[in-house]
Amino acid sequence: MGTEMSGGLSTLHSLLLQLAEAESRLADGPRMIGVAERQIVAVEQQIEKQKQAIKDARKSADDINLKLKTKESEILKLEGQLNVASSNKEYEIIRNQIANAKKDRGEIEEQGLLALEAVDTANGKMKELDAELQKRKQQLQTIRNGFENDKPQLQAGVQSLQQQIAEAEKVIPGNQIATWQRLRAAHGPGALSPLEDDFCKECSTRVTNQDQVRLRTGEFLCCRDCGRALYSPG
Ligand SMILES: [Zn+2]
Repeated sequence: MGTEMSGGLSTLHSLLLQLAEAESRLADGPRMIGVAERQIVAVEQQIEKQKQAIKDARKSADDINLKLKTKESEILKLEGQLNVASSNKEYEIIRNQIANAKKDRGEIEEQGLLALEAVDTANGKMKELDAELQKRKQQLQTIRNGFENDKPQLQAGVQSLQQQIAEAEKVIPGNQIATWQRLRAAHGPGALSPLEDDFCKECSTRVTNQDQVRLRTGEFLCCRDCGRALYSPG
């Protein structure tokens, strides 16, 4: 058999649970905006690193190009010397030097191709990062718009629940209000615990026969073990 007290506390419990849910939905928006903002900062940092990587790759390609030019002018010089060689022996020496220099040039050209590929790869990565940044900025805007759109309704819901809770709290006797306020501040919706069979749902302690009688007569009573305000549901 339900009393006014247990019915009132049951309603209060349900309202407190709804309030916690509504407040958590209201907090979700700023939390998700914060996450999206941090993701953008992370991509921006990657972009700064990538700018440096591109610079390094270009510098490396330029250095190799310079080495190639130096090697080519060395070959031209040697070919000039070959034409004015004064002996067969000198001619052979210069020819060997030219062959070696051409071999070096081949290696430098290969390095140059690899360096240009590295520049292309670095530029490609930068394009991907730019696209990702744009995508994340759009996502942030979508989240912001969605939250701005839902916020008034969520706030109105919280306000309405707070009013209903203030009304429902009137069931609590005046001399227990301070106890109740402490409980609610500490546990939120968990300040109330329904009886399940003869047990406190919160701490699973059996409620004494004496306390069960007091609950049935509509007293405001806290669990002797966990301190939650007890009520008989249903
Ligand atoms: Zn308990």
